[in-house]
Amino acid sequence: EGDKHDAEKIIEQRKKRLGRSLSISYQRPLHIVRGFKQYLYDSTARRYLDMVNNVAHVGHEHPAVVRAGQEQMAVLNTNTRYLHEELVHFAEELTATLPKELSVCHFVNSGSEANELALRMVKANTGSRDMIVLETGYHGNTNGCIDISSYKFDGKGGKGAPECTHVVPTPDLFRGLYRSDDATAIKKYIGHVEQALLSITERGRGLAGFIAESIMSCAGQIPLPQDYLKEVYKIVRSIGGLCIADEVQVGMGRVGEKFWGFELHDVVPDIVTIGKPLGNGHPLAAVVTTEAVAERFASGMEYFNTFGGNPVSCAIGRAVLSVVREEGLQQNALQVGENLIRELKQLQTQYPIIGDVRGNGLFSGFELVRQGLMPATEEAVYLSNRMRDKGVLMSTDGPDNNVLKLKPPICFSATDMEFFLEKLEEVLKEDFLKL
Ligand code: PMP
Repeated sequence: EGDKHDAEKIIEQRKKRLGRSLSISYQRPLHIVRGFKQYLYDSTARRYLDMVNNVAHVGHEHPAVVRAGQEQMAVLNTNTRYLHEELVHFAEELTATLPKELSVCHFVNSGSEANELALRMVKANTGSRDMIVLETGYHGNTNGCIDISSYKFDGKGGKGAPECTHVVPTPDLFRGLYRSDDATAIKKYIGHVEQALLSITERGRGLAGFIAESIMSCAGQIPLPQDYLKEVYKIVRSIGGLCIADEVQVGMGRVGEKFWGFELHDVVPDIVTIGKPLGNGHPLAAVVTTEAVAERFASGMEYFNTFGGNPVSCAIGRAVLSVVREEGLQQNALQVGENLIRELKQLQTQYPIIGDVRGNGLFSGFELVRQGLMPATEEAVYLSNRMRDKGVLMSTDGPDNNVLKLKPPICFSATDMEFFLEKLEEVLKEDFLKL
């Protein structure tokens, strides 16, 4: 009772004092007061298994990360125009996880800032403005990022693609434009990139670059098909465009088999943008690029960022990298994540509403469909709300909002998986989903 009253009061205050352009999760909003590892606790001390938050990468309030931040906060926090060891150590340790070509770091405070800076870099390097992007891609909340995010400009309140943005279809082999029953589907998807390039050159313009996530998140956990990225990078580079890998959601060990999502595709991007997991909840993001791209960018307008790369952020980032390593979390993401995908595929054979299960490591999802491939949107929303009632948090997404996304902190355990599967099966048996 007391909690219900508190929650209503907070909702009332939010309505009065906060911007309204933001939805609250769940039909019955949660009042979360504490987090620890892969769990969140509400004001009645009820525990929820968090399968949404890929920001709390190594776990909510991980003690080693909290300590690193507290200790540095008590000593010094300034901008990067002074010399400080934390900054260079962090840059060393971060680049050590990347292919050797990606050797120069720029630290910023959010995924949007990272992609915004990446855009400045491709424009400064190529002298062009045109970008090729994937349908339903999301890259951030700033003006520049919105202009390359079909999820936004083709969505609610959007005004369609800007003149310099060329959208190619989501290479979704399940319910996309070309599907797995078409042996030439991947080739056809790549053909759209060639067409986009042609329409740019026909206007007498050059290509600035191409941006994509290595597994598309907002589009509904869509892994890019085999060789797609490799072929697209070739096309983009054939006229001097630069390739950006947006690793804001998928990076840092989450995909299990590799540390970075793009490595699943055997490519090396020109620019990598890193966000959410890097600070484990502290606002920290990065743009890592090649010596040549960094050099050309630096010959133009200076880039200064008041907070980016401050010693507190760097101490936190270093702690996150070291926890991933020391606790073997990439290996955990691989083992538990692949088991989870296997178990879900097993459930798919019993519950036809599960149309597709896909992903890598602990970045996966399943899509609900009815009567062939009709999106089961209401059912997906119902499922996530019922799971919340049972103590498991998961989110829905995709252009039809019928995909359940799974992207928990990567300390998610085999026991958590058992708990999740038990609750999921209970909900799948409920009338609303059974019919
Ligand atoms: N890129 C991707 C792929 C994202 O998912 C997001 C955020 N959801 C961003 C960029 C922007 O990051 P931020 O919200 O930290 O600005």
